[in-house]
Amino acid sequence: MGLGIQTKCLYGSREIIEKERNKHFGAVSYPIYQSATFAHPCVGGSMGYDYSRLQNPTREHLEEIVAQLEHGADCIALSSGMAAVALVMELFEPQDRIIADSDLYGGSIRLFDNVSAKNKIFIDYADTSGVSSYERLEALVTENTKAVFIETPSNPMMKVTDIAAISEFAKKHGLLLIVDNTFLSPYLQNPIDLGADIVINSGTKFICGHNDTLAGFVISAGNDIAERLRFLIKTVGSALAPMDAWLVLRGLKTLGIRMDRQLENTEKIVEWLKSCDFITKINYPGLESHPGHEICRRQARGFGCMLSFETDTPERAKKILSKVRLIHFAESLGGVETLITYPVTQTHADVSEEARLKNGITDRLLRLSVGIEDICDLLEDLKQACS
Ligand code: PLP
Repeated sequence: MGLGIQTKCLYGSREIIEKERNKHFGAVSYPIYQSATFAHPCVGGSMGYDYSRLQNPTREHLEEIVAQLEHGADCIALSSGMAAVALVMELFEPQDRIIADSDLYGGSIRLFDNVSAKNKIFIDYADTSGVSSYERLEALVTENTKAVFIETPSNPMMKVTDIAAISEFAKKHGLLLIVDNTFLSPYLQNPIDLGADIVINSGTKFICGHNDTLAGFVISAGNDIAERLRFLIKTVGSALAPMDAWLVLRGLKTLGIRMDRQLENTEKIVEWLKSCDFITKINYPGLESHPGHEICRRQARGFGCMLSFETDTPERAKKILSKVRLIHFAESLGGVETLITYPVTQTHADVSEEARLKNGITDRLLRLSVGIEDICDLLEDLKQACS
């Protein structure tokens, strides 16, 4: 029998437990193999590792656990979420085209519009959320189209794309489906089960969960893509360092219990926001009124701990940001500390104003990543900041 998901966060699988048994002098916490290189016993002989850019035991242990959590054939741990997105883009050739959801993390858009475009890999942006999106997407497919790239829920508008339906569309046209699963993490959603070929996670967020370490993951559904990505990572060299791999291993151990608490807090915050007359819109898939509510319910095990909301005026939004005391006015998400973000000047500052406004990213939009604090303290801080 397989392990429960919170147990997997500690051990990955029964096979991994057996493999690691009676090793490392019985250390319960996996050791940090802080070595750049590994000596060989003889010519042609190996202790299993050569050089840490290729592989390192601590990183490998983390990769095995995350591959299990995402139901993938292989996982590569990288130095950041953006390193993960950039590695995946190395799969493509000049003149290739990718259909991408128009609502994405601003850093991914910056990469696509500057680095990928310079390499003559072109992105066709479209709204991939909603049932009627596939007709719109059909019109974008050319013989050079190679992949579809989505986030669901998306950053920061919390739009939900139907992963199984878009996978059907991708398969029909022979396209790779790449899903950035950062907002829900493998604790709440497994895109590979719904047909994704590649899953990306910013490990900086929920997986590590302590706002203290940068990391990224690329998980492949099949061995052929995994092999191509393994060749690329040893070549471009953006793999996660052993010490950081250990910090992520430590954070990952509590992913389930952290997210359960964060989900509970999020629901209560959403309830309170609903009662505020100066809030004109709440973007949270857990709300029955959210257009992606049913899809998210079907494809995920929870609605997540991220939300965004619009205030009546930009002045109100700025006042809240300057008045929060317990909640940090900071970029990033998914950690134990609650963070409030101003997408227009932070995560999406490099996205053109036209694209931002088209997606609804206005100067009245705030994004909240809910942490594990006591809910009474969070609500008290929000109330005083909004007063
Ligand atoms: N993907 C999403 C959805 C994100 O929100 C982020 C960062 O906020 C990234 C990728 C990039 O991750 P990192 O900051 O670890 O490079």
